[in-house]
Amino acid sequence: MTRVRLHDKDFETFIPEADLSAAIDRVAADVSAAYQGKQPLFVGVLNGAFFFASELLKRVTIECEITFVKVASYHGTRSTGKVSQLIGLNERIEGRHVVVLEDIVDTGHTIRHIMDILAERRPASVTIATMLYKPDAYKQDVPITYVALEIPNEFVVGSGLDHDGLGRNLRGIYKIVEKKALVESDQSIA
Ligand code: 5GP
Repeated sequence: MTRVRLHDKDFETFIPEADLSAAIDRVAADVSAAYQGKQPLFVGVLNGAFFFASELLKRVTIECEITFVKVASYHGTRSTGKVSQLIGLNERIEGRHVVVLEDIVDTGHTIRHIMDILAERRPASVTIATMLYKPDAYKQDVPITYVALEIPNEFVVGSGLDHDGLGRNLRGIYKIVEKKALVESDQSIA
């Protein structure tokens, strides 16, 4: 098990890169089948979704477009629930089939906000595809149509996800090591 320290917190391997890759394969196959002939517009939510967007798009086999937006929503290891505006959506959305690409859906505040803004622009349809989904934390009724992997309600980094700016480049997914687990592992070493 690999352990890394990012700022003040320790993280350990949680989902190996190969498992994540296989899960993204499945989402890409599902999306490609569902959107055949619809020329979907993928909307990646920066910063975190850059990795998932890139990995998904290279596996999608149908005609499609991609753009990126940015929302300011999250600091540290707990969701604030506060989301500011959507920046960078210049494409014409009306009548398009839109697939929002998220790195992780936690409480769902961010995705709720994005869906509300997109709905005002009259798309033909909007679905969500996310790399990671925390069902136990999710508080919205917006369906999450495409999920690469469901995870427990823990703070994770890697593959685009950060802890205060660090960790986005880690391969696979790492989860935070709680203080209690650290003490136990230190004792077992002693
Ligand atoms: P939500 O609005 O669904 O509560 O949170 C969505 C955003 O919070 C994600 O796009 C991500 O930026 C951040 N987030 C939620 N959970 C995690 C996590 O476990 N790790 C990291 N690095 N970010 C998270």
